[in-house]
Amino acid sequence: MNKFKWFNAQNIEEALERTNATVSDAINRGSADSAIIKSGGIELLDFIKEGIIEPAEIINIKSIPGLEGIAFDRTAGLRIGANTTLADIENNGDIKLQYLALHQAVSKAATPQLRNVSTLGGNIAQRTRCWYFRSIDHPCFRKGGTTCFAQNGENQMHAIMNNGTCCSVHASSVATALLAYGATVEITSRGGQKKDVSIDDFFVNPFTDIRRESVLRRGEIITAVNIPAQGKNVKSWYIKQGERASFDWALADVAVVVELSGKRVRKAAIAMGAASPVPVRSKAAEEFITGKDINATTAAEAGQKAMENATPLAKNGYKVDLFKTIVKRALLESV
Ligand SMILES: Cc1cc2nc3c(=O)[nH]c(=O)nc-3n(C[C@H](O)[C@H](O)[C@H](O)COP(=O)(O)OP(=O)(O)OC[C@H]3O[C@@H](n4cnc5c(N)ncnc54)[C@H](O)[C@@H]3O)c2cc1C
Repeated sequence: MNKFKWFNAQNIEEALERTNATVSDAINRGSADSAIIKSGGIELLDFIKEGIIEPAEIINIKSIPGLEGIAFDRTAGLRIGANTTLADIENNGDIKLQYLALHQAVSKAATPQLRNVSTLGGNIAQRTRCWYFRSIDHPCFRKGGTTCFAQNGENQMHAIMNNGTCCSVHASSVATALLAYGATVEITSRGGQKKDVSIDDFFVNPFTDIRRESVLRRGEIITAVNIPAQGKNVKSWYIKQGERASFDWALADVAVVVELSGKRVRKAAIAMGAASPVPVRSKAAEEFITGKDINATTAAEAGQKAMENATPLAKNGYKVDLFKTIVKRALLESV
């Protein structure tokens, strides 16, 4: 691990002035002179320990007052500051009542100790945990190399959809729930300029740019995540399946948000994580379930529809059945 300078930012402008790279920039063009933002530090320190980057300076944004906090309003919806820890989201009563799938997703992410430190901003800005990407011995596409080692290698944890070039999956399982709720990410740049990016547009597919996984650029900082208010007939559920119940990444996870009219589904969002390089919604499953009651037959058919375009690799075919099952279960549990 290299030596680096440490800077405790007191406000956003100071942090942005001092920062000159994202982790992706540091990987893409070399990290020798880079000054990178740290919130919880869980993944940034992993990158440094793994020898993937050697930043010259770490800009600690945990020291910025007011960048954390949760505000809920029945009309305006939910605002979660970027520095809010996953533990604080998990323990928030409004979130548990109004955004159950988000509560469930956060409660199942990582471990209690990690959730005490990890922040929401850091969680959605983290990079893939693909073991080839994380290895200095494997110059994959995402690190400027000429191949995806997982395509014909150890691909049991990898993508079963949209996996033609890079088949890594995004590390954030919290993002699966955010996608189902239609969240937006508030990004602030120099001079206090703010923009709201829908979570669908926040994540970048490898076909668009294989060297990054989000639209974040240097000179930008996530300041909050906003989720619209949900009507009183909206129900949700989240299921994560890993190899182990704790301390583990998702092999498959699903968040379902349905608006009901009586027993009928009026509107549905079915989001899947660890299926594709970025979290995805299944339009086919959503269209199928809309206008129907949710029961064992329709939920199972929605699970089938969600996997219509699956193109599993040699070692991850089991994920197709896993997704069919958890889409079905999440729909049944949601109502
Ligand atoms: C063993 C293990 C298991 C895990 N399991 C899960 C899981 O199941 N599900 C899940 O979702 N997560 C999981 N995680 C991830 C973890 O919960 C953290 O969310 C993640 O490591 C990053 O959070 P952090 O606050 O520590 O970010 P940091 O390490 O501080 O930062 C991560 C990245 O985000 C950037 N960044 C941080 N904050 C901002 C900001 N406000 N604006 C712009 N860029 C920013 C940093 O520059 C860096 O590139 C796991 C982690 C470990 C180590």
